[in-house]
Amino acid sequence: MNHAESARLFSAAKRLIPGGVNSPVRACRAVGCDPIFIVSAEGATICDADGNRYVDFVSSWGPMILGHAAPPVVEAICQAAGRGASFGASTPGEVELAALVCDAFVSIDKVRFVNSGTEATMSAIRLARGFTGKDVVVKFDGCYHGHADSFLVKAGSGVITLGIAGSPGVPTDIVKNTISIPYNDNEALEATLRARAAEIACVIVEPVAGNMGCVPPQPGFLEKMRALTRELGIILIFDEVITGFRLAYGGAQELYGIEADLTCLGKIIGGGLPVGAYGGRAEIMNHIAPDGPVYQAGTLSGNPLAMAAGAATLRLLRQKDFYPRLNAKAADFAAALGEAGRKAGLPMVLNRVGSLMTGFFTEWPVMDYLSAMRADTGRYARHYQNMLASGFALAPSQFEALFVSAAHEPAQLEAALAACAASFARIARRE
Ligand SMILES: *Cc1c(COP(=O)(O)O)cnc(C)c1O
Repeated sequence: MNHAESARLFSAAKRLIPGGVNSPVRACRAVGCDPIFIVSAEGATICDADGNRYVDFVSSWGPMILGHAAPPVVEAICQAAGRGASFGASTPGEVELAALVCDAFVSIDKVRFVNSGTEATMSAIRLARGFTGKDVVVKFDGCYHGHADSFLVKAGSGVITLGIAGSPGVPTDIVKNTISIPYNDNEALEATLRARAAEIACVIVEPVAGNMGCVPPQPGFLEKMRALTRELGIILIFDEVITGFRLAYGGAQELYGIEADLTCLGKIIGGGLPVGAYGGRAEIMNHIAPDGPVYQAGTLSGNPLAMAAGAATLRLLRQKDFYPRLNAKAADFAAALGEAGRKAGLPMVLNRVGSLMTGFFTEWPVMDYLSAMRADTGRYARHYQNMLASGFALAPSQFEALFVSAAHEPAQLEAALAACAASFARIARRE
């Protein structure tokens, strides 16, 4: 496969953009490659600057649940663009998308749109602090909530991939108000919350972790979290930036039957355009300006193109049978993937919830950050390279998720499984 044009673009990018990328994991360093530059995509296929085509399992890191360039979404964006890209004023599109979001989540009476998942989580903890009058935020090791200062403590995603503990530039005065505890550890959770309830404003969690690879909650973990936070006057924030509209139309909250106090959304609700949102009960949301004193604003928030893309996406997701069909397809794919690993004699743990999954190159169950770190990242790097050379794009890190979309066709999944089997066999033979 020729990557000459991608290589040329990457050298130019490295001179102009730090690391040549606008988000660190894209640099593909964890898998020992240079990035490929994508020029177009359609359905489950992406096409690079050298004309190579790949079946895509990155899905823009989650948003493209319908596949790329889904015609109703493209049409909605084009129509909105023709009416003007931004007014900095209220638009009908905001009301439409807000109604869809509030209808999807029982726990959301009101929602505020922002421009990214990072803005959503950052604003949600400000609101939780303003509402409770307390400062401390509890998060879980290996969960990623965007790149705001308060969250860069034992964070997931690129922070794990690059093996950095936190980040220079984050004041100790800020992170002293962040407590990070192990995921799926009920005892640590209870001990921490009971000991410091008077200081803790909120607990923020990925209800299914997706940023240390896919790590599902153990039975009882989220239930315990809900009961303790309710008892102790602590706001429970579900960061559903990945899981919202991914696991079910009503996200992890619908799947597990748990209602959060505040919910953060992003990725899918923008249909591929930059959007985030946070929402919850009116009693809490009414504390945001201009109704209340907690300040949060945005020049491009509720952008008409983004609202149109999001609404067009959600309207398609709302169709009956969308999730059962997608999840069944993903379940079959995951089962076959696990089987391919076993046949090759490569120990692999397959974690999956709905269409979100990760195959970890380890034989030990992956339930938290420490067990995720046992995965053999060297094997993942070889697998990534083998798959890319065969025309399949995986996330360039062991600690990210693989997404199956509605656009993946049976033949594409079959071909991907055959390529995986061949890759596993090569890895097992140490080629
Ligand atoms: C992607 C992600 C974010 C951050 O969203 P951005 O749009 O990248 O700022 C926050 N939380 C979770 C769970 C995410 O997966």
